[in-house]
Parts: sequence; C-alpha cells; structure tokens
Amino acid sequence: MAERMVVVPEYPVTEHVTIDPARTALLIVDMQNDFVKEGGKLVVPTARETLPAIRRLLEAARQRGQFIAYTQDTHLPNDPEFPIWGEHCLIGSWGWEIVAELAPQPGELVIQKRRYDGFYGTSLDHDLRVAGVDTLIVTGTVANIGVLHSAGSAALRWFKVIVPKDAISALTEFDLEAALRQIHFLYRGVITTSHALSVSQPA
Ligand code: ZN
Repeated sequence: MAERMVVVPEYPVTEHVTIDPARTALLIVDMQNDFVKEGGKLVVPTARETLPAIRRLLEAARQRGQFIAYTQDTHLPNDPEFPIWGEHCLIGSWGWEIVAELAPQPGELVIQKRRYDGFYGTSLDHDLRVAGVDTLIVTGTVANIGVLHSAGSAALRWFKVIVPKDAISALTEFDLEAALRQIHFLYRGVITTSHALSVSQPA
C-alpha cells in the first residue's frame, strides 16, 4: 500500500504543571539496555536522547521524596512475546537490566512485568495506592507500547496521568504522536515537557 500522509490532530502541550509531590509518583517505563543501549535487542534509537530529561525528573523526584517506580520488561525463556518481537529482556540478561544512568536506588519500586502494561499481573496499583499516590508522571519507552499501555491502565484506574513528551521515545514519529494523541484524547492525560513541572507550595 502506498504511504499515506495524515495530520496529527492538535493536542495541548501544557506549559506549567503543578504537582503535589506527596501524591505524585514518577514512573519510568522499560528504560533497559535492550531498548536503550547500542547492542540491545530492540533498540529505540531516540531513547538515549530522553536520558537527560528522565534523569532530571528522577533527581527532582528523589530530592522531593516522591514515590519512584520503574517497570522492567521481564521475560522467561520461550516467552510468547518472542515470536512477535524476537527475544528481548530475558530475565537475568544484560539487556534486561535498567540502564546505569537511571539505576534504581534502594527503596525505589521495580516492577517486573511480562506484558506491555505495567499494571497487568503486578503489584503496581496496590503499591501506588498504599503510598497515597493519585497522579503519575509517566516516562520511558516505548511510547506506543509500554508507555501507552501503562498510562492508559493508570487512567482506567482513575490515576491522573502526566506525560512529559521529551521523556518518552518511539521507533517512529508516527508512533510517538499516535501515543500522545491517544493519551490526551482517550485518557485525558496532561501532555507537557520535563521542564514544565513545578511543585505546589504548601498551604
Ligand atoms: Zn517485552
């Protein structure tokens, strides 16, 4: 089929977003060597460009004492995802490890997930609720796969979703824009940038 041009419908990119750090978690989706690093099995070439933005958000979240959660795509040998994507994020492998730049610290939650959605078959929903979280800043890769499914799954559970668009990456521009459009249009997520987040002053 011939290539077709489509226009991405407008979605707002919010310039100032105020968060309450006590109720807002940072979620870093699948920033693992297989997706990010040269030699990885399923590299998203632009993922490395998001490292500074995610790192900045991570450092700010640590300073503010925010709840921090990572998802880690985790597959066992002969996983049914492998016929689709090839072998990737095999448990215990180098490619499965979260990139060194964003290495989790003790006390930060790492959710090993089997599917695109960070909530599916994991304790993420429970852990966020126990921590009093009602808002998620969703970052990482792949924008239209793990990020979209985790953001959507969060929104279905009535978490508020914030997506800094410079902190997510996809294989194509179409995939990135489609994910952002869907997160805004369907899940009413707030699309913004990593520089736009500020903290609400205590009352
Ligand atoms: Zn996978």
